[in-house]
Amino acid sequence: MMNYDLIIVGGGAAGFFTAINVAENDPKLKIAILERGKEVLSKVRVSGGGRCNVTHAEFIPNELSKNYPRGEKELKGPFHTFMTGDTMEWFDRRGVTLKIEDDGRIFPVSNSSETIINCFLSETKRYGVEILKNHAVKNFYQEGEQWFVETSQGDFKTTMLMIATGSNPKIWKIVQDLGHQTVDAVPSLFTFNSKDPRIGNLPGVVTNASVRVKHSKLSSEGPLLITHWGMSGPAILKLSAWGAIELNACRYNFEIIVNWLQHYSQQEVLEELKALKNQYPKQQISKYTQFELPKRLWQSLISASEIRNDTRWADVSKIQLKTLSEQLTQGVFMIKGKSTFKEEFVTAGGIDLKEVNFKTFESKKCHNLYFAGEVLNIDAITGGFNFQNAWTGAFIAAKAITSG
Ligand SMILES: Cc1cc2nc3c(=O)[nH]c(=O)nc-3n(C[C@H](O)[C@H](O)[C@H](O)COP(=O)(O)OP(=O)(O)OC[C@H]3O[C@@H](n4cnc5c(N)ncnc54)[C@H](O)[C@@H]3O)c2cc1C
Repeated sequence: MMNYDLIIVGGGAAGFFTAINVAENDPKLKIAILERGKEVLSKVRVSGGGRCNVTHAEFIPNELSKNYPRGEKELKGPFHTFMTGDTMEWFDRRGVTLKIEDDGRIFPVSNSSETIINCFLSETKRYGVEILKNHAVKNFYQEGEQWFVETSQGDFKTTMLMIATGSNPKIWKIVQDLGHQTVDAVPSLFTFNSKDPRIGNLPGVVTNASVRVKHSKLSSEGPLLITHWGMSGPAILKLSAWGAIELNACRYNFEIIVNWLQHYSQQEVLEELKALKNQYPKQQISKYTQFELPKRLWQSLISASEIRNDTRWADVSKIQLKTLSEQLTQGVFMIKGKSTFKEEFVTAGGIDLKEVNFKTFESKKCHNLYFAGEVLNIDAITGGFNFQNAWTGAFIAAKAITSG
């Protein structure tokens, strides 16, 4: 039976980051990555539309942690040890320069995830980390100080074990047998489906909006993108992540209230509409957009207020003005179902965080058992935060593994 100092289950982002940091800290250790697939790092390859959104330009630990609907509290401490700036420096030291885009997302300057993959492969090669593909791990258990790992291609022995299997729930049963609790998986990043006629002809329209889920405390604001199927963009994706469990419970059938003018109240908007009526009595209401709204959206909301597009401001009734102010600030939309966001399916759920020591990412139940990445019940909104969780956990675990 092959014997190692450290076995890492899962050849993804967290697995490789652990391997490289452990090997750098202590090159004498014998390390293997066991990967069930034919290839390693396949999610890194497709991530960020093939560009790999490595992390996000938020440099204050407490602010960074606010992007994690699950994991916010637990990651605050770890981010003080390893976060965005450290990630950038880590890659920079290995010849991978990263750049910050206008929206804060950070990518390799090459605009290719292959750069990250090549970096990881050359680093593991340099340190002699064994990468065993087509090795699906079926079971692991501890006897004395030794871990035994059963795979589709034979059994292995190791002193330390890192579980970095991402969102594969198959591993959870094994971990439950070791005394860990797990939280069921639900999708966490998705767009909202809606057949509402007000947005039916507007795919591609983007505007800043605030959105609330009716009968819930869930709310968010930011760019809202109208799509062929409904709504997307940061305002919606944030709601999908923070509401992952609540929206799953109502089977993705719920109502949202959209304020297309973000911070204006209905009363303020009504006053403004009355002022416009006085100012431009002869002008057609639909001719010029108001409140800097995209013109097509403005025209659609006028129609939804039962105002004909050729109506002049002078002929708009008080009731119509009130309806328009409601459409602009309190539009109710029925959501029926969800869609995947750019193939980027992230799941909430995983190893319950209560039983993990976030100073080391070691199990509180079993000595020398570590977890990092999406296997934990941690997930984030889109923008590079999910990888940052993987880097942070892996880095801290590597430090703990080599300081014991
Ligand atoms: C299309 C897409 C795009 C994304 N883009 C981004 C992005 O740009 N930025 C961002 O921050 N996040 C992004 N994400 C999320 C991000 O990819 C994940 O959060 C991240 O990969 C998690 O890393 P991980 O190492 O925990 O898991 P993974 O990267 O999923 O790695 C887990 C590995 O474990 C292996 N494995 C599982 N079970 C076993 C087993 N029993 N035995 C052996 N091996 C096993 C799997 O095959 C896999 O290779 C994206 C996700 C998707 C799907």
